[in-house]
Amino acid sequence: MKTVEIICGNCGADALLTREPIYEGFSKIGEKLICSACGFEFPSEADVPFKHKKTEPAIFTDADRPETVKIFEEDENAALCRYCANYIVNPFTQFCSVHKKEVESTDTCPQFEKAQAKKASDDLF
Ligand SMILES: [Zn+2]
Repeated sequence: MKTVEIICGNCGADALLTREPIYEGFSKIGEKLICSACGFEFPSEADVPFKHKKTEPAIFTDADRPETVKIFEEDENAALCRYCANYIVNPFTQFCSVHKKEVESTDTCPQFEKAQAKKASDDLF
């Protein structure tokens, strides 16, 4: 008999499912599905809180993909100085060529002008 991991709904433990055959005379008529930790008997196969069936697909679909996509989109659309064509950066200062003043890469202003093909060098800073 292979072991089946469950998270018991009764005791909350990370336990194993114990199958106990039910006999009527000499013939097996069914199985009892029991929590190895607390002895709770599950009424049917559908009531058994299997550990793997539920968790694995959920992690794959929800966790990774939507988050990375979201961060990427926000960066692309942001009207920040660092993405602006008038943003000049050198080792000593970050400078706006429109306002002739020092700026932060995360600043934003109404004169924002999206820089073309600036991505590659931009990522170094
Ligand atoms: Zn239990």
